[in-house]
Amino acid sequence: MLNTFTRLENFGHSLDAPAYVVQPRNGVDVYSVFKKAKRLGLTVTARGAGRSYNDAALNGGGIVLDMTAMNQILEWNPESGVVRCEPGVTLEQLWQRVEPDGWWPPVVSGTMRTTLGGCLAANIHGKNNFKMGVIGEHVVEFAAVLPTGAEITCSPKKNADLFYAMIGGYGMLGVFTSVTMQMKRVYSGLLSVDAYPAPNLSRHLSALEDGAPNHDYIVGWLDTFASGAALGRGQIHAARYLREGEDPNPQETLKLKNQILPPMIFGVFPKSILYQFMKPFANNLGWRMVNLAKYVASLPKHTFRQPHAAFHFLLDYVPNWELSYGRGGLIQYQSFLPKESAEAAWTEILRFSQKRNMPSYLGVTKRHRPDNFLLTHAVDGFSLALDFKVREATRPRMAGMLREFDEIVLEHGGRFYFAKNGETTAQTAQAFYGEETVKRFKKLKKRCDPNGLLESNLYRRIFEG
Ligand SMILES: Cc1cc2nc3c(=O)[nH]c(=O)nc-3n(C[C@H](O)[C@H](O)[C@H](O)COP(=O)(O)OP(=O)(O)OC[C@H]3O[C@@H](n4cnc5c(N)ncnc54)[C@H](O)[C@@H]3O)c2cc1C
Repeated sequence: MLNTFTRLENFGHSLDAPAYVVQPRNGVDVYSVFKKAKRLGLTVTARGAGRSYNDAALNGGGIVLDMTAMNQILEWNPESGVVRCEPGVTLEQLWQRVEPDGWWPPVVSGTMRTTLGGCLAANIHGKNNFKMGVIGEHVVEFAAVLPTGAEITCSPKKNADLFYAMIGGYGMLGVFTSVTMQMKRVYSGLLSVDAYPAPNLSRHLSALEDGAPNHDYIVGWLDTFASGAALGRGQIHAARYLREGEDPNPQETLKLKNQILPPMIFGVFPKSILYQFMKPFANNLGWRMVNLAKYVASLPKHTFRQPHAAFHFLLDYVPNWELSYGRGGLIQYQSFLPKESAEAAWTEILRFSQKRNMPSYLGVTKRHRPDNFLLTHAVDGFSLALDFKVREATRPRMAGMLREFDEIVLEHGGRFYFAKNGETTAQTAQAFYGEETVKRFKKLKKRCDPNGLLESNLYRRIFEG
């Protein structure tokens, strides 16, 4: 097993923490790390692709299990659409394996670089959360190693308490060693996408609510600089699968070569250097202009067909785009609000950030439904994800602003997502989870991890704070 002492970062390069990095190849390796950690008095955190925007996969001064070497697709059944994978398999590996056979992962994140272990630990949602729920709802079973050394298998029927707590449990109860999932049948490599503008926040949210029942996916882009009567304006993208027979040549559209994002822009410039050209625009004025131009371009309503990969993984189109935010990096703040209070809460939040002159540069909205997982972040409502540039000079002011956002979200009955938010305190986390949930989680933690070996910076922040 590889073992190095190194400084790891979050996805946005705004946080870092030194750790001993160990790369296990199987469950036996994972357990031997637990034993070693206990002997040395160290804590352990699993890490997938390190794509969390916050401290979920950091463990200052402890051991980090780099799960990326456990990256084999173990079984794939193109008849039933059931796949069994090691936890380091990425969504990219997964969709590229199943799509040519006419299947697609039922829930994906906005980047394909995440691992299945990381996706289960955060219980990710996609642009179809209102319809397909979170990724955990498509897990047939998973295997995991607990710090006690127990190797367990969990499904909605077997060890159900751990199934509903470890999915969404941020690796705080055990480490996934394999995941079995059901894929979704598709009849074309293309989606039919409707794109239409929304002139203000109220219309934006009603467009998400009204558009969702008639589509398989819905997502909004929100112009974070618009103010006054235009506050919250943006553009909706609502997509649906093509029905059987609608695509005259599905064998062709399902081919990988018709899905993969091209490596060159205009066939000449390598995409890998594009983020360098974005750097000069990564300031308030630059992003104001980008948002304005995007809104103007979004005005005519139109419908088009788009490959699945291009629709879902737009953010992967520009590799390393996060580096364009410069030295301080970026953070993302995502809040989940019930549909009755979302407009009021986000009106306050957007006005607040504009008034403080710390505007978000990118806003994304989605429609959600609740789920049965113990540490759920979902609501019957909407989410708004806001990206913020971090500058050393304003970092403490920004942290203060995000904590004020937390108060607004709590007051409006909202929830938080711990693959994103980096400032939420233990007090706030416990207020939104509720006493009963925290008690149940801590009881399971004691059972699975009696010596408290599994800890991350996130765990210490939201459960011990
Ligand atoms: C550009 C971008 C777009 C995104 N879009 C979305 C989106 O649309 N929807 C959404 O829900 N999220 C989204 N995310 C967030 C992302 O999906 C989650 O942060 C996800 O957890 C990252 O996966 P990872 O493999 O990088 O995990 P990491 O960030 O490495 O780890 C995340 C958590 O998983 C735990 N973990 C990792 N592997 C294991 C394992 N084998 N066993 C137990 N625990 C483990 C870690 O301890 C940590 O708590 C996005 C992130 C980025 C960067």
